[in-house]
Amino acid sequence: MGGRFEPGEQILFRSVKDGRKLHGALPVTVVRDDTTLSVLYLSEGTPIRWPSLADGRDMRSIPPEEAFASEWTTVERKWEGEGMLMVTPRGAAHSVWHFWEKPNRSFWGWYVNLQAPLRRTAHGYDSEDHLLDIWVESPRSWEWKDSHELDAAVRVGYYTADQAGAIRAEGKRVLGRIERWASPFCDGWERWEPDPAWPNPELPSDWDRL
Ligand code: MG
Repeated sequence: MGGRFEPGEQILFRSVKDGRKLHGALPVTVVRDDTTLSVLYLSEGTPIRWPSLADGRDMRSIPPEEAFASEWTTVERKWEGEGMLMVTPRGAAHSVWHFWEKPNRSFWGWYVNLQAPLRRTAHGYDSEDHLLDIWVESPRSWEWKDSHELDAAVRVGYYTADQAGAIRAEGKRVLGRIERWASPFCDGWERWEPDPAWPNPELPSDWDRL
């Protein structure tokens, strides 16, 4: 699977644990996909698959140890609120998710999602969510998010201590970029606007094919 995806193309971004357990699927529109960046847009109202416990409850309705020791499934929902732009440096184990707020689509902040490097598939890109995140509400200021979830995941064997160490090390590398306000943070993606002519993607019937 060589080439890149074309701007305007609708593809699927998925989170797959260990390459075999589907934890989520987001139908997105390609903004840019080249040797340096993959930029994908998730628009309001798009049907998505979101992780949930097997009985349909939200993952966060129970203590994290219990959640990471449980079997997960996904449920269909719609992406609510303003659209979200995922800017992923090629080969990086993180993505910078840009969030805007209603009612005026004012910029809310940068959410660094630690995740496995994108892996191209027939339908789009697969990654694996690494639980730990960084929230950046204004340039050069940051806070860790969900560090306790990564700790809980290690305690129940969802990740090994080595895997968690590598995830935290990637997070620290990104903190350096935040503190220097390096690319992609300084690249002005917060001023990006979606093409209003783009239709919302559908969720393909074979979204869960591995
Ligand atoms: Mg995350």
